[in-house]
Amino acid sequence: MPLNDEWRRRSLAAVWHPCTQMKLHAPAGEAGGAAQPLRPIARAEGVWLHDFEGQRLLDGISSWWVNLFGHNHPALRAALVEQLGQLHHVMLAGFTHAPVVELSERLAALTGLGHAFYASDGASATEIALKMSAHHWRNAGRLAKCRFVGVAGGYHGETVGALAVTDIALFREAYAPLLRLAATVPSPDARQAAPGESAEAVAERAAAALEAWLAEHHAETAAFIVEPLVQCAAGMAMHHPLYLQRARALCSRYEVHLVADEIAVGFGRTGSMFAHQQAGIRPDFICLSKGLTGGTLPLSVVLCTDEVYAAFYDDEVARGFLHSHSYTGNALACRAALATLDLFDATDALNTNQQTAARLSAQFQPLTQHPRVRHARQQGLIFAWDVPSSLPDFARRYARHALAQGVLLRPIGHTVYAMPPYVINQEEGEHLARGAFAALQATLAEEEQGAATPAVPAGPAVMDGV
Ligand SMILES: *Cc1c(COP(=O)(O)O)cnc(C)c1O
Repeated sequence: MPLNDEWRRRSLAAVWHPCTQMKLHAPAGEAGGAAQPLRPIARAEGVWLHDFEGQRLLDGISSWWVNLFGHNHPALRAALVEQLGQLHHVMLAGFTHAPVVELSERLAALTGLGHAFYASDGASATEIALKMSAHHWRNAGRLAKCRFVGVAGGYHGETVGALAVTDIALFREAYAPLLRLAATVPSPDARQAAPGESAEAVAERAAAALEAWLAEHHAETAAFIVEPLVQCAAGMAMHHPLYLQRARALCSRYEVHLVADEIAVGFGRTGSMFAHQQAGIRPDFICLSKGLTGGTLPLSVVLCTDEVYAAFYDDEVARGFLHSHSYTGNALACRAALATLDLFDATDALNTNQQTAARLSAQFQPLTQHPRVRHARQQGLIFAWDVPSSLPDFARRYARHALAQGVLLRPIGHTVYAMPPYVINQEEGEHLARGAFAALQATLAEEEQGAATPAVPAGPAVMDGV
């Protein structure tokens, strides 16, 4: 069987990797080479990723936040094998099948939003929610309501429509001519608190800014899109649920849809099944993906209210929702999602996660108490620490040291974070916490030595991590 080096070489020749300056992976010997070798993975089990040479890494970020119950979970595998023997896929226009019906019913029961529209990735879910919102207002005769507003630092995906509501300067700059940019209002990020100011006060301040914006622009605004409780891609920016309560009230008052993008924070990650539930609100739309299939297959869904659905229910085709993906409601992916939901019940995941989070919190104490760490914070099974550093490529260096410790962690800018699979046990938590701490020590030691200028200049935060 080919070993790591061969897969690395073949991948670099044939595969264009996401969110990556490919030159950073250039082989040793080439200009700027060997900075960050690509990691071939042969198989995975639980929290561990195994390469082709017997080395293993603890997946401290759940493979970009998609994995919930560990890799290669036997229950998910069994459900998929069973589904493989029945139905892989059938077009969802004019046809239906058991997994898509059952999944839609269960998501409706969990959220109170009774209509499910499927796609295959998070960005497509964002696109669907935006189109559905604007089309709803059009059907209601409110043609001017076709603009959107999001939160500063918000991330909702990178297709052209989703990018228009994603507030990341680098991406917006390169693709600006293609976009119909949405407006942004200030983030309720609790780190902005002045000395002595509470997270609630920051939330109130941000809500006041949203109110001022809506008061002026509601007539042209279809929807407000927000990542409830944690703006993950912004660097695990956390806010008080009060912000969501205020936003809900304002959106209702100004007749603007509230879109909860729970693509990263849904499915128990923040402590509740869905993050917005901690604010006791009901959004008009919920976007889900990432953890939906437990990290097995691509699937996303937009859930909407009866009110939204009713605006499309008509004799005229053109008043229906005009959107389609070939793989909409794929049976295998829906079955994986159902099996994932079963695991929440079977493992009493929300309660178990509380204990896991408390245990990890204790294990992370050395990192949390490190004199260079600022804003140590936690929400459910998301842990984050800011490390102001003079190293422009802090994230990259840290990630490299973490890998050397047998841990997959990729800081976002100067924010180190961990978002492990829910099944992480005591011993694995220890490995993660020890590796995270050792990587910090090693990175700061390089800073102290006045680390050499990186061969490739460091990019803005998101390119440097996520
Ligand atoms: C990852 C993410 C998306 C985009 O999902 P993709 O499947 O990567 O397109 C959208 N919104 C949030 C909050 C995300 O974290």
